[in-house]
Amino acid sequence: PTGYRVLVASHIHEKALETLRANGFEVVVREEPGEDELASLIKGFHALIVRSKPLVSRRVIYSADSLRIIARAGVGLDNIDVEAARERGIEVINAPASSTMSVAELAVGLMISVARKIAFSDRRMRMGEWPKKHAVGVELHGKTLGIVGAGRIGSTVARICRFGFNMNIIYYDPYRNEQLEKEVGARYVDLDTLLRESDVVSIHVPLTPQTQHLINEEKLRLMKKTAILINTSRGQVVDTNALVKALKEGWIAGAGLDVFEEEPLPKGHPLLGLENVVLTPHIGASTVEAQERAGIEVAEKIVEYFKK
Ligand code: NAD
Repeated sequence: PTGYRVLVASHIHEKALETLRANGFEVVVREEPGEDELASLIKGFHALIVRSKPLVSRRVIYSADSLRIIARAGVGLDNIDVEAARERGIEVINAPASSTMSVAELAVGLMISVARKIAFSDRRMRMGEWPKKHAVGVELHGKTLGIVGAGRIGSTVARICRFGFNMNIIYYDPYRNEQLEKEVGARYVDLDTLLRESDVVSIHVPLTPQTQHLINEEKLRLMKKTAILINTSRGQVVDTNALVKALKEGWIAGAGLDVFEEEPLPKGHPLLGLENVVLTPHIGASTVEAQERAGIEVAEKIVEYFKK
């Protein structure tokens, strides 16, 4: 035994718990405690594992007396007060690559659902209709895909679409990705060119001051009337009001969205009334495989950390 204690405050994969135990850690599981409970519970633990819940607030972090590392079994750190952790010299880690394939597959799923009106058809059939006449779609095959942000997820989407649908790939990123250029014949262009030339635009940038409302009214107006916009990155990257206008007034043909400026999407939101948009509730990383990978990745990182 190492004498180190890990508090697992979210549901993580059994294999991750086994990894910790096999390396001599004492593991205590208490899933999603409230802030008060977590603040008292945290004392005596050296590591804390969470997912998008529970909230690891400043108060929780300052209540800890032995904590050295906070691990997010996943990507986003929105529920962790990273600043407070830094003040107390507590390391914060995550598993940034664990959900790449899952998010990429969802992005492609949204593309197909919008292009072939799958969600629309399903909705109408359940209302007792046979909406064949209204469900004429377009193929993805041979079309141009514009990737905004050619990192892990963007590159994976590019590969799936290149090798699966023979799409032409163009991309915009502050950094050139020569490997992607070689692999899928991707062409590096500026954002305006990408928006003008793409049949499908898929967004994969992090949320930063530079990417906040990167896709605004002016940018949406550059897109083809027949184009489809996919966003599985962060809601704030797209100006929602401008997007609603674009979808209503036909500046673009449709959109597939997994992320929103306000989550959960408020009741009665204008997006919910549009037929040419497919919505999913931020489920990009919500797969069995991504969750398993995320748990194991952070468990291994914790083991490594305490070996140092
Ligand atoms: P990554 O860091 O591997 O790639 C991001 C890419 O964006 C990088 O190549 C970077 O250079 C580029 N970039 C940065 N600023 C840019 C700008 N101003 N314009 C164009 N490109 C820019 O990240 P990733 O793992 O591919 O994740 C991409 C996005 O997906 C992130 O926003 C992440 O939050 C989101 N995500 C969503 C879900 C979900 O559930 N829907 C799950 C995981 C990740």
